[in-house]
Amino acid sequence: MLILTCPCCGVTGEETEFHGGGEAHLKRHGPGSSEQEFHDYLFSKVNPKGVHLERWRHNNGCGKWFHAARDTVTLEIYGTYSAQTTEPPQEIKDAITAKRPGWSWREFS
Ligand SMILES: [Zn+2]
Repeated sequence: MLILTCPCCGVTGEETEFHGGGEAHLKRHGPGSSEQEFHDYLFSKVNPKGVHLERWRHNNGCGKWFHAARDTVTLEIYGTYSAQTTEPPQEIKDAITAKRPGWSWREFS
C-alpha cells in the first residue's frame, strides 16, 4: 500500500484516497502537431522498473492534482510536489540519487 502526502493540502493517506493519473511531465501535442507526435503523446508512455514520476489526484480530499516520484520496485515514495512544475524539485532529485546512484530521467541527470 502506497502512503502519499498531498502537497496541496498536506494530508497523508493511503493510495485508495488518491487516484493515479499516469506519467508526469508529458509534453502535450495538439492541433498543428504531426500524427507521430500526437500518437506518441497519447499512447507512448514509459513503464520503468525503478524511478517513475507520476501524476496523482487527491480524490477523497482537496481534489487537486500533484506529482509523485516513486520507485516501482520498492514502492518507496521519494516525494510529492506541485503539478505546476516542469521538473521535480532538487530535494526530490537528491533523494532519488541517494538511493539510486546514476539515476537519470529524460533531460534530468
Ligand atoms: Zn489534497
